[in-house]
Amino acid sequence: MFKEELTGPEYYGRFVERAKELGVEYMLNSMVLQVYHEDNEVICINSVNGMTRVEAKSIVLAMGCREKTRASIVVPGTRPAGLYTAGSAQRLVNRQNIMVGKKVVILGSGDIGMIMARRMTLEGARVVMVVELMPYLAGLTRNRVQCLDDFQIPLKLAHTITRIEGNERVTGVWVAPVDENKKPIREQEEFVPCDTVLFSVGLMPENELTRKAGIKINPITNGPEINQYMQTSVPSVFACGNVVHVNDLADNVSEESARAGKYAAQYAMSNLLETAREVACVTGRNVRYLCPQKIHVAEKGEKVNVYFRVLWPELGVRLVARCGDEIIVSKKEYRVNPGEMNHVTIDTAKLVGDTVTVEVVKED
Ligand SMILES: Cc1cc2nc3c(=O)[nH]c(=O)nc-3n(C[C@H](O)[C@H](O)[C@H](O)COP(=O)(O)OP(=O)(O)OC[C@H]3O[C@@H](n4cnc5c(N)ncnc54)[C@H](O)[C@@H]3O)c2cc1C
Repeated sequence: MFKEELTGPEYYGRFVERAKELGVEYMLNSMVLQVYHEDNEVICINSVNGMTRVEAKSIVLAMGCREKTRASIVVPGTRPAGLYTAGSAQRLVNRQNIMVGKKVVILGSGDIGMIMARRMTLEGARVVMVVELMPYLAGLTRNRVQCLDDFQIPLKLAHTITRIEGNERVTGVWVAPVDENKKPIREQEEFVPCDTVLFSVGLMPENELTRKAGIKINPITNGPEINQYMQTSVPSVFACGNVVHVNDLADNVSEESARAGKYAAQYAMSNLLETAREVACVTGRNVRYLCPQKIHVAEKGEKVNVYFRVLWPELGVRLVARCGDEIIVSKKEYRVNPGEMNHVTIDTAKLVGDTVTVEVVKED
């Protein structure tokens, strides 16, 4: 985004400065309780002003996501101390200077889990292994290399934790390989002693407010369905970032957020481009979801990036977009991975018919 290497605090610091320069009004430590788009208002609460009504001609949803926990994936065993989501451990270690354990097993090969494997090692803990249910990595290959391989941390693919042991504190976990139906193979279970387990098992877009507002939710992303203007099924409500779909990198989120802000402002000023027609984005071979789910075709043609994740890893492929039998995008890709987001750029002038299908085609 800024074309330079920045730490997290430096990165968000740039946006804070920019918002202050522009005189953006903000309310911190406030919780939005309800979005009433019919009345163009948002109800929020804080300890200074109590309940407050904020009026707006357009609204941008940016509530982010939350981590899945042990309860979300139902891991059997006792309930001792020493179990954390990777993000809460990251916060305790990085921001509160609290070390969470000495001998660690990480369940899930998501990016935050792998980054925490490196962090815990640098802080003096021993990361015994990272255990991943799927036969492939959940996060970025870059993180595997820089956070696991560089520190000789073993990655057990197609394995899971079958039971957690320990009364007051975790004493270890049982780890087993899984078969093709993801069922643990009990005969090969092994006990792995540890005092800490970190869960890096996925993120859930935070959409309680969105649902309550009656906005259409996509069953795969668990986020609001949007068009290329980041506009939801309710025209005055826009959305961006992890509340829409879980992004790998803050840079993607910043780009989407800038877009949502721009078009929400245009909507509020009644300047949003007139739509001639709407084209639905349809998932084809090896595509799990597409974002945006709809493209508005205005009189003036434009280039639209359609982001997607694949269902399984593949080498030597083409990313293809087609309208009926006509191929409108074909892009060679050396490798695709479920943990890494892909995109195709579609010229709206080439969109004929009501749908555009995006698929991953294996090269011969
Ligand atoms: C644990 C974790 C670690 C990550 N580490 C990295 C990393 O190292 N590098 C990287 O590039 N990316 C990282 N990411 C990804 C990146 O941080 C996110 O993609 C990005 O921050 C998402 O931005 P967002 O604005 O969508 O959501 P967030 O940054 O999560 O912001 C959402 C905000 O909305 C607030 N909110 C939610 N509900 C309400 C409500 N009802 N009322 C008021 N406020 C509300 C939340 O408190 C939060 O402040 C990480 C993500 C997570 C979850």
